[in-house]
Amino acid sequence: MSNKILQPLRDIVGSANILTGKEIPDRSETWGTAQPCQAMAFLMPADSAEVAAILECCHAVGQSIVPCGGMTNLVQGALTTSEDLALSFERMNRIEEIDPVANTMTVQAGVTMQAAQERADEAGLYFPVDIGARGECMLGGNVSTNAGGTRVIRYGMIRDSVLGLEAVLADGTVVSSMNTLLKNNSGFDLKQLFIGSEGQLGLITRIVFRLQAKPRSHNVALVACDEFPQVVELLTMTRRHLGSALCGFEVMWDNYFHEVVAPVGRLSTPIPPQHRYYVIIEATGTRPGTDDDAFEAAIGEIFEAGLCADGVIAKSDTEREAIWAIRHEVEWVVRDSCIFDVSLPVAHVHEYNETITAGITAAVPRAKVVTFGHLGDNNIHICVLCNERTDEQAAIIEQQIYENLEPYGGAISAEHGIGVEKRDWLPVSRTPAEIELMRTLKRSLDPRNILNPGKVFPVDF
Ligand SMILES: Cc1cc2nc3c(=O)[nH]c(=O)nc-3n(C[C@H](O)[C@H](O)[C@H](O)COP(=O)(O)OP(=O)(O)OC[C@H]3O[C@@H](n4cnc5c(N)ncnc54)[C@H](O)[C@@H]3O)c2cc1C
Repeated sequence: MSNKILQPLRDIVGSANILTGKEIPDRSETWGTAQPCQAMAFLMPADSAEVAAILECCHAVGQSIVPCGGMTNLVQGALTTSEDLALSFERMNRIEEIDPVANTMTVQAGVTMQAAQERADEAGLYFPVDIGARGECMLGGNVSTNAGGTRVIRYGMIRDSVLGLEAVLADGTVVSSMNTLLKNNSGFDLKQLFIGSEGQLGLITRIVFRLQAKPRSHNVALVACDEFPQVVELLTMTRRHLGSALCGFEVMWDNYFHEVVAPVGRLSTPIPPQHRYYVIIEATGTRPGTDDDAFEAAIGEIFEAGLCADGVIAKSDTEREAIWAIRHEVEWVVRDSCIFDVSLPVAHVHEYNETITAGITAAVPRAKVVTFGHLGDNNIHICVLCNERTDEQAAIIEQQIYENLEPYGGAISAEHGIGVEKRDWLPVSRTPAEIELMRTLKRSLDPRNILNPGKVFPVDF
């Protein structure tokens, strides 16, 4: 594609908002690496009308365009080549409205998750989704990846908090589906086409979120178990005892725990690091006092049932934060490692983890397999720590992680998405008919294959 297209684009966004060559921000396309953005130009439109005009222009000449949010995805989902344009939502960062009666927040796609959380909090409400990259990731990127995080057990994936959205199709058509109603069965629920489809079917420009009541009680416990069946039983019992108050059930295997707490790691732990599994149990509610008593009673019953070898309930904000810090230290652990995010039935997690650990350490003798994750959502993260590995060894690691999911009906991506990184493994989790239907939708909505080409699945036009 010749760069003749740049002048009309300049006319749309203004010269200050189209960067080329060395002007392109020195930001990485792949989180945690220094891989620079390769695009022919980096566009920063101000609003939906400019996004629509850009796409109309690109569609006319078959120019590919890669949407960019906060670029925190972990699957090379916003990778560009020198043939592509990059479209950043960073100037579309306005929170348009909070409606305290409807419990909704309307935003442009470039608002960061943290800005939305803070604004909801100021209004006495609660933005229910939270992920580690909250300060950098943008809501358009979050919705297009259907982000999960640590509160899914209570509030669901981000999909469950989206009431409506606006998307611009490949040809520049603006589809405004800015529903604010909890119940609306008037025809197809078109927003679902764009949620989790990683910029394949349209660019998300505005979103209506459903907010929640702000928690007024907050309880956290860190407990330790020595056998995996106890962890499974703990999950069942915690769900029964805490009901809808349960908002976090995060499991850390000893190999993760030892990486982050002293003497290897830099954190201290309120319980000794000699156990096999550590679980953070979190509950929130709106009745302080009553909720605190109920939480303490639930943890007491869990101990009486003999499920935990040790444990502690946080008694202050500082203690609560110190417990969560152990889990949030993940950023330090995952840097420079291969990280995988898979889903499978809880009952098979132990067997699966043992199998892949044996397979990986046999193929890459110095590799360390570290496991942790949102077990209550069927989701574990596996980090393979090894400073040096050959391409052949990297291929064996992927094969171990993905092929071993098949017998359990597992998912190759629980929350991070497919991007380029997992594209070839999609058939492990999706049937040929499902992939063909995805291709049919892609061909129909983006017949010139200009939207984020080459990601999620290969497609012929
Ligand atoms: C430290 C850390 C912790 C993380 N923890 C979690 C976690 O707990 N749960 C989780 O789910 N993820 C997690 N992630 C992954 C990542 O933050 C999420 O995938 C996030 O939703 C990506 O948002 P983003 O704005 O950075 O999107 P980007 O990385 O910029 O883009 C993601 C994808 O969406 C497309 N896209 C971006 N904006 C739009 C748009 N407006 N319209 C259409 N397509 C668009 C891009 O082309 C790309 O394919 C974590 C990442 C890091 C670095």
